[in-house]
Amino acid sequence: MPEVKCTVTECTFNSDVKCGAPMIQVDRNGSASAVKSDETKCETFKRRG
Ligand code: SF4
Repeated sequence: MPEVKCTVTECTFNSDVKCGAPMIQVDRNGSASAVKSDETKCETFKRRG
């Protein structure tokens, strides 16, 4: 997987503002056909702690 920069530091997979998960899943976020990046979301997010 390419390096993924991610500022969601409260995610359990985040380390030094990068994603450490071996694979992530990104889905549409409430849109049938995304037009902008805010219509996508990281489904792999898991709250730290
Ligand atoms: S799983 Fe998603 S939210 Fe969590 S660090 Fe990786 S890219 Fe960010």
